[in-house]
Amino acid sequence: MIRLELSGVQKQVREEFREWLAANPPPRVADDSSLDAFQRIGKAWQSTLSEGGWVAVHWPSQYGGRDLSLVEQAIVQEELVSSQAPQILGLFGLSMVGPVLIRFGSDEQKSQHLAPILNASKVWCQGFSEPGAGSDLAAVSTRAEKADGGFLVNGQKTWTSFAHVADWCFLLCRTGKDGSRYSQLSYLLVDMKSPGIRTRPLAQATGDEEFNEVFFDNVFVPDENVVGKVGQGWEIAISTLMHERVILTFARQLQSERLLQHALQSDSSDARGLLEKRALVREVVEACGVRALAYKHLFQYASGTEPGSEGSLDKLGWSESFQRLTRHLFRSEGLESLWQTSEAQRYLYSRGRTLAAGTSEIQRNIIAERVLGLPRLHVKYGEGKS
Ligand SMILES: Cc1cc2nc3c(=O)[nH]c(=O)nc-3n(C[C@H](O)[C@H](O)[C@H](O)COP(=O)(O)OP(=O)(O)OC[C@H]3O[C@@H](n4cnc5c(N)ncnc54)[C@H](O)[C@@H]3O)c2cc1C
Repeated sequence: MIRLELSGVQKQVREEFREWLAANPPPRVADDSSLDAFQRIGKAWQSTLSEGGWVAVHWPSQYGGRDLSLVEQAIVQEELVSSQAPQILGLFGLSMVGPVLIRFGSDEQKSQHLAPILNASKVWCQGFSEPGAGSDLAAVSTRAEKADGGFLVNGQKTWTSFAHVADWCFLLCRTGKDGSRYSQLSYLLVDMKSPGIRTRPLAQATGDEEFNEVFFDNVFVPDENVVGKVGQGWEIAISTLMHERVILTFARQLQSERLLQHALQSDSSDARGLLEKRALVREVVEACGVRALAYKHLFQYASGTEPGSEGSLDKLGWSESFQRLTRHLFRSEGLESLWQTSEAQRYLYSRGRTLAAGTSEIQRNIIAERVLGLPRLHVKYGEGKS
């Protein structure tokens, strides 16, 4: 049985943050806000939160946090969602490259980047996926060739969310030719204003242009921007993904639950409404399970374990359930929109959530092999056919 109980300190953090929120009410984001407005408001709100010391409370105090654990960070997120606060803008920095720099970064990298990540004065994007390397991330072909004092980067990334507004990119690229394909990879911090970078927006099904293709043409990256060692990129990239699947997923799960609550409160006196509510009950059960599991993992991390493959359970559970919920709401009529998008847009947006941060198939593979310890199956497609 999983027994999860908050400590006195954790309950006190909740009270203290509630008081702060009452004194600093979050701005409202209109349902029909543009992506531009969403970004502007999210940036300003993160800066206000950071002034109050409420961004990344789990980070060490020497880097602007409060020396608390991920459980207290989860409590802060719960209160933000309850108060209907807008989403903060710097999620890639806070939940991906920030923790990686704290663990693997040099002192100079920490002092240059961590404070601007906290207050959103610098926004980051994730340069991992390429046209020929998504699920098989180790196949990246963007190259960084050694040059005097640094590297020259050439290649293309794709699906890079917010690259068009980002100040910095954490880039996975190939720096070597020898050894295993994993040991040829390195993790670079790239200033998005460097000469030779071109971004081209990609329109999503919602009509928004949130992600991009990014082209690198002889982009110079100084030696001091390599995180860890040359050739350590795969280990650092996996650590980035583990953090993404756990921390970012928790925030998204809370938003799904708010949406679910709203749907359950809608008028349902007729037979159709009752049938719809019955379908939603499954999602309530699922949401309780996903949140309990997420908390179980957060308690583990609070006692010193680094995020690992178990985060795939959280990510799979949340993204599949979010997709079912938005499909359901899209089909039902008359629900007042809760977020800034219409039901149809939210439904379209949800389609990408079982792809981003690793597809559901990949999460199932990870769960089977690395969480449950099942043997790896090598299936040759087409085998047995004449
Ligand atoms: C909304 C959104 C935002 C994103 N933002 C970013 C970002 O900011 N930065 C970034 O780097 N990337 C980003 N991505 C890219 C995302 O990480 C990739 O889409 C994802 O990893 C899948 O890669 P792919 O699209 O190349 O699909 P592929 O890897 O080509 O997969 C195609 C299909 O084959 C299946 N498949 C592949 N391999 C296996 C296998 N071994 N076993 C079973 N099935 C398999 C997949 O599940 C999928 O259904 C984003 C994607 C989306 C949708």
